[in-house]
Amino acid sequence: MAILLIHGGAWSMPDELVGAHERGIRNALGAGWRVLKSGGCALDAVEAAVRSMEDDDTFDAGRGSFLTSDGRVQCDALMMDGATLRAGGVGCVEHIRNPICAARKVLEESPHVYFVAEGAERFAAAHGIELIDNCELVIEREREHLRAAREKAAQGQEFEIFAHSHDTVGAVALDANGNLAAATSTGGTLNKTPGRVGDASLIGCGTYADNQSAAVSTTGWGEPFMKLVLGKWAVDRIAAGASPEEAAWAAMDYVKSRLKGHGGIILLDRSGRIGMAHNTSRMAVGCRTPDREWCGVKLERPSQPA
Ligand code: ASP
Repeated sequence: MAILLIHGGAWSMPDELVGAHERGIRNALGAGWRVLKSGGCALDAVEAAVRSMEDDDTFDAGRGSFLTSDGRVQCDALMMDGATLRAGGVGCVEHIRNPICAARKVLEESPHVYFVAEGAERFAAAHGIELIDNCELVIEREREHLRAAREKAAQGQEFEIFAHSHDTVGAVALDANGNLAAATSTGGTLNKTPGRVGDASLIGCGTYADNQSAAVSTTGWGEPFMKLVLGKWAVDRIAAGASPEEAAWAAMDYVKSRLKGHGGIILLDRSGRIGMAHNTSRMAVGCRTPDREWCGVKLERPSQPA
């Protein structure tokens, strides 16, 4: 049975942004599900879902991403194929509208796994991806956010809510042939130093897929997730017998207790069981199966056995 599970960030999303997140999640579920419904593969489905969210300014991926400290959009993305363990990633790209499509090209058409900056852009261009001006990815809302973050930083303070905002996007899918895939795309964190790469596009940190166990995508403060290789940590717990739901909540407890990390995670195992968890007040998530479409911004933690 085919399943698509996606996220669009985990943070203390204000009420007025909930509608835009839910719309973006529904559109992305539609885009990914069209692929799976017509018998398409999990890789195509996660690419379509993530691409739809990159094209939506609501999220911190593609156009509308957070800006670096020097006012540019700089994106990271990774895709992984659970059937073959092939992976493709790009980091610090500034001239690509859909970084996930460049990541797909790396996965399909390169013996390497990861390209960064100009090298990634040259590779993408050589494989048919149009390069665009960085200003096409920058929106006024994010110029405002950067201005506010800099003002706060000059006063030695943090830019409260947006300092903890995580609008990275991701998808995991299981197709009719039993293959898993995962994809994650991000503009990183607000006011980041140019050249910084987060967890989202690093194998095993923010994204992983293995047909023998599960597929994962995360969102959150990337540095703690990277230090704990959190995505693979969660997948390994599923391989060791935990359910995806148990592994998801355990991962968020682990990153919080060990490194005060915050964010969210989605997991899908090879038998189609799903897990989603966050330790922020909200997380934008959606799921589509042949019988059901669901989307929301808050998850209830299952009660622990006494
Ligand atoms: N995890 C991403 C990063 O650190 C940011 C996010 O999820 O919003 O780059």
